[in-house]
Amino acid sequence: MTERTLAIIKPDAVAKGVAGQILSRIEQGGFTLLAAKLIHLSHEQAAGFYIVHRERPFYGSLCSFMTTGPCLALVLEGDDVIRRWRDLMGATDPAKAAPGTIRRDFASSIESNAVHGSDSAESAAFEVSYFFAALEICPR
Ligand code: GDP
Repeated sequence: MTERTLAIIKPDAVAKGVAGQILSRIEQGGFTLLAAKLIHLSHEQAAGFYIVHRERPFYGSLCSFMTTGPCLALVLEGDDVIRRWRDLMGATDPAKAAPGTIRRDFASSIESNAVHGSDSAESAAFEVSYFFAALEICPR
């Protein structure tokens, strides 16, 4: 089933200069890019995005990390794209991520882990609309 997901190339990966390499993997992986935006989040914007994690001990630290520099927000489309993008990202902790995954190759730590991907159709709908207006998304 064709679906959409929000992907983010996080501030650590943009700062390291590997956003282009990650975009190449997205293109080579057969994902269709519908939208892209470089944005430097405020603390309030990061806190709203990660609101589901507000009870987790790392919430404050995660929100601060996400404000350390610009990130590249993307909308990807394709069959089973939510699962396929999370497979390409790899496990949250890069030490546990499989060889060939983006986090294995580019993440620095469990927090500064290079990329984000929506984890369900419900969160994808919230997250895509959090970053993008309807007119910023280019249907193919
Ligand atoms: P994801 O779906 O793989 O991104 O993982 P989660 O939804 O569980 O966590 C959201 C984000 O919080 C992760 O991508 C990390 O940036 C961060 N994170 C997750 N677990 C930890 C942790 O144990 N410590 C810290 N500092 N950050 C974490």
